[in-house]
Amino acid sequence: MFDLEAIYRAASVQDAIAALVADPEAVVIAGGTDVLIRIREGKLAGCRLVSIHDLPELAGCRLDAAGALHIGPLTCFRDIVDHPLVQRHIPILAQAAAAVGGPQIRAMGTVGGNLCNGATSADTASSLFALNAVLTLTGPQGSRQLPVAEFYLGPGQVALQPGELLTDICIAQADYQGFGGCYLKYAMRNAMDIATLGTAVLARAHGAALMELRVAFGVAGPVPMRCPQCEAALSGTLFRDAERLIAGLVREEIHPRSSWRASREFRLQVAGENAARALRQAFIQAGGEV
Ligand SMILES: Cc1cc2nc3c(=O)[nH]c(=O)nc-3n(C[C@H](O)[C@H](O)[C@H](O)COP(=O)(O)OP(=O)(O)OC[C@H]3O[C@@H](n4cnc5c(N)ncnc54)[C@H](O)[C@@H]3O)c2cc1C
Repeated sequence: MFDLEAIYRAASVQDAIAALVADPEAVVIAGGTDVLIRIREGKLAGCRLVSIHDLPELAGCRLDAAGALHIGPLTCFRDIVDHPLVQRHIPILAQAAAAVGGPQIRAMGTVGGNLCNGATSADTASSLFALNAVLTLTGPQGSRQLPVAEFYLGPGQVALQPGELLTDICIAQADYQGFGGCYLKYAMRNAMDIATLGTAVLARAHGAALMELRVAFGVAGPVPMRCPQCEAALSGTLFRDAERLIAGLVREEIHPRSSWRASREFRLQVAGENAARALRQAFIQAGGEV
């Protein structure tokens, strides 16, 4: 049994926000794959929960009139993997979601929960960084938009204000159209392991030229991160030069630490190697000539 004081099942987003305002100590639960573990571990023992699990308006994917792709934060990983809009426009996110846990976790865990727990290892986060995702946060004062890069404040800390929910993840058409992408997860084993390092690369190609490059990592610092200097140096160069240089450039920009999973030096090695491998796959997917 779980050590809970109460669980309130919200009937709408506004109902959930009202419940959080009435009880500021209450914890939001979506799929529960993190929250329930923390209750079991005693870190949230005796807590009161506000469940958003039954809110269909927060799940699913759609295109708006401007071609922007909206992802409901309550969409579970399995549905991200299978969704035709994701497969067609941002297959990198399907790749990242497919890398999470096992089938049970992918059926319960949500992309919104993956961001809101603030973990640098979150598999979907680095792809959403590369895609310049914009988050909608809705609270008692209404809604506001925040780039995903500004959402992360530190390990386990995100920019949600009291009473706020993540209600939308949006990727503008200009941030996916014409890009090829690749997410590579390095973990100590293939199944059910948190990333030792996650690498997301987006590329636009014209013939042999790498027109635009975006590189993002998880576990390369306290929060997911992009490599803007590497991106600026290699965008507009020949693919063959970019492939040769990318490893050294990303290693200058990231700052992984040593942990029981891997040393800093090992992560630096993997980051360079996987950036080059992911670049090649992204470039080919974008129609580039290698
Ligand atoms: C066995 C196992 C294996 C795992 N493997 C991986 C893995 O390989 N890769 C990986 O990235 N993760 C992994 N995880 C972690 C976990 O599955 C993910 O972080 C998941 O995405 C969390 O989503 P959830 O809906 O279950 O979140 P919950 O547990 O419901 O919530 C997580 C946090 O986010 C908050 N929250 C959730 N949704 C919202 C919202 N819409 N608005 C505001 N706050 C919100 C909650 O209050 C809580 O703080 C694993 C977990 C387990 C138990």
